[in-house]
Amino acid sequence: MLTNNVQDLEQRIEKLKRLVELSVTLNSTIDLDSLLNLVTTTATGLLSCEAASILLYDEKNPGLYFAAATGSDPAKLAEVPVPIEGSLAGTIFRTNHSMILNNVEKDPRHYSLVGELIHFHVQSLIGVPMLIQDRVIGVLEAINKTDAEFTVEDETMLLVTASHAATAINNARLLKTAQEALQKVKEADQRKSNFLALASHELRTPLGIIIGYASFLREDPKAETSEHARHVLDAALQMRSLVEDMTNLTMLETEGLILIKAQDVAIQNILKSACTEIYEIAGAKGQKVVFAFPEKPIMVHVDSNKMAEAFVNLCNNAVHYSPQGIDITVGATILGDHVLAWVQDQGIGIPKDKLKVIFEGFYQTEDPITRRHGGLGIGLTIAKGLIEAQGGKVWAESEGKDKGSTFKVLMPKA
Ligand code: ADP
Repeated sequence: MLTNNVQDLEQRIEKLKRLVELSVTLNSTIDLDSLLNLVTTTATGLLSCEAASILLYDEKNPGLYFAAATGSDPAKLAEVPVPIEGSLAGTIFRTNHSMILNNVEKDPRHYSLVGELIHFHVQSLIGVPMLIQDRVIGVLEAINKTDAEFTVEDETMLLVTASHAATAINNARLLKTAQEALQKVKEADQRKSNFLALASHELRTPLGIIIGYASFLREDPKAETSEHARHVLDAALQMRSLVEDMTNLTMLETEGLILIKAQDVAIQNILKSACTEIYEIAGAKGQKVVFAFPEKPIMVHVDSNKMAEAFVNLCNNAVHYSPQGIDITVGATILGDHVLAWVQDQGIGIPKDKLKVIFEGFYQTEDPITRRHGGLGIGLTIAKGLIEAQGGKVWAESEGKDKGSTFKVLMPKA
């Protein structure tokens, strides 16, 4: 008698161990098919029965379908839908109640078509609902107990298994939905990149022709023609700068396309060369550029053209986002093994929570409908990409709206 009790206890401990193992494995399994198979195999062993199956509810074609099964061919089973009305699994699903039947063949609710199709006779059955929160998502069944009849203890065991399984299924489904959404976003992003590459390429040839002819006409002795040609040329050059930005962005997005030729160069030269590009637009707004760096060259190890391109974008923004007649400061100093350079303005400023996001492609702090400043929203993305490709770092500092902004760049010292 005592030996029987001890054996009984040992068996229960063994079963609980398997349940814990199942729960641990399910937590680390994200592939839906693998976890469904694991649940049915474990249930078959735990309840000492011939077969176990998971039937999940299909919302698109209302009904239950076999998602996994042991004891017969799961692929064949998957082809046979089980109706919600007129089947035991359907009854469990509808009523959200477990069921223990040790004489199935006599039960009028038994849906015998499945057994007939796969030549499998169901004698005894225990089924429990699988729940996510209060929603039944399917049914877990164990079939034909091998040594005795199904008991309430079996039911408890199956309920615990079903509850672990339902949570794991829900997680796997959520993950799958998230992965699919991510894949769609990636595809859309790729299409956008392809479009940018194509558009910038296609625009370059006609723009070249416009610039060529406008330059030619600007030399016309007739003052009126020359003046008109100058307008056309200015607009075309502005457009070319936008197209170059688009090309730069696509090159930065495609790894390996940006070639960096780093050399030792004075940062002052880079900053001065960048500023020559903005003198005209700054002058038109009555703005002056003030240099805040020493005469003695501060040597950096960077690609001077690419670094200058990045500073042109930062300086352009300083002009763009500052009011008329306000000075812009461009400075540099040594900071340990690095050199810090900055472009400071006293313009519209940047809200603190936007200081990082402005470096992301196409982000603009102004509403696109009501914005007062032009631009594609990619200048900072390009500057960041170019600076980082040379081992540097760039960030923005601002005390907020109308408090001005400072863009700082840290780069390797020569
Ligand atoms: P764009 O200027 O073409 O919109 P950028 O990538 O250069 O694109 O800048 C992204 C956004 O960051 C701008 O739209 C603007 O909202 C903000 N920004 C950039 N530079 C400044 C600045 N100096 N002062 C205030 N806001 C700025």
